[in-house]
Amino acid sequence: MPNGKVAGQRCIQLDENNLCKLFNKPERPPVCLQFKPMRDVCGDSNEAAMKIITELELLT
Ligand code: SF4
Repeated sequence: MPNGKVAGQRCIQLDENNLCKLFNKPERPPVCLQFKPMRDVCGDSNEAAMKIITELELLT
């Protein structure tokens, strides 16, 4: 996504199993490499992660 994504939008690099199609590839964005998953951000499910991360994106 060369121009980034809007808050709440699913990354186009996620596959049907919610795995990153760019994992371990050089074109994976640096911000993704630096991100460290934690419960406060990711919750305990995909639905929780989308809700929390969308809220954080809208606030920043
Ligand atoms: S790690 Fe980055 S590129 Fe990969 S799916 Fe997540 S947001 Fe998209």
